[in-house]
Amino acid sequence: MSRAATSEFWKDIPPIARVFRTDAMPETYIPDAATDDERYYFPLSPTVFSRPLWISPQRNMWADILMAKEAGLVNRHYHPHQVFAYTIQGQWGYLEHDWTASAGDFVYESPGEGHTLVAYDTGVPTKIMFIVTGPLIWLDENGESVGHYDVHDYIADARAHYDRVGIGAQYIDGLFR
Ligand code: FE
Repeated sequence: MSRAATSEFWKDIPPIARVFRTDAMPETYIPDAATDDERYYFPLSPTVFSRPLWISPQRNMWADILMAKEAGLVNRHYHPHQVFAYTIQGQWGYLEHDWTASAGDFVYESPGEGHTLVAYDTGVPTKIMFIVTGPLIWLDENGESVGHYDVHDYIADARAHYDRVGIGAQYIDGLFR
């Protein structure tokens, strides 16, 4: 149940009676998405963690909170598809670009970009909301493909971690849309 309106000008507007079309999926509401509870973040690398918010196997996409407690690294990779990012706190960037993102900063990466993600030591964890279209193609030091990571790897890693920390692997299934 949502908060009741009191003085708001729209308080007498009734909600739509037919909210969902027959085959529509329910919305997702996740309070405190960028929580400090570390159990919700599984390791994408030894120093960078992900809290899944939305997962779409059909689209090979996911939305998450990326988190690095201090300095962090996601090794070099290539994106054949687009990526969106909004910075919540901390500082981060790519070795390949000349900017450093901090709280409030938005980033869009066009399909066809390779990069190396780094998070800085700032005294607070870096937290970024990402919308990723998979796969990530891992690159070696010469920029050659050496592996991949897509929504299916993401789901498997998230399930294994959530099972291990006691949240339960089925939590991940509730994020599928
Ligand atoms: Fe990336």
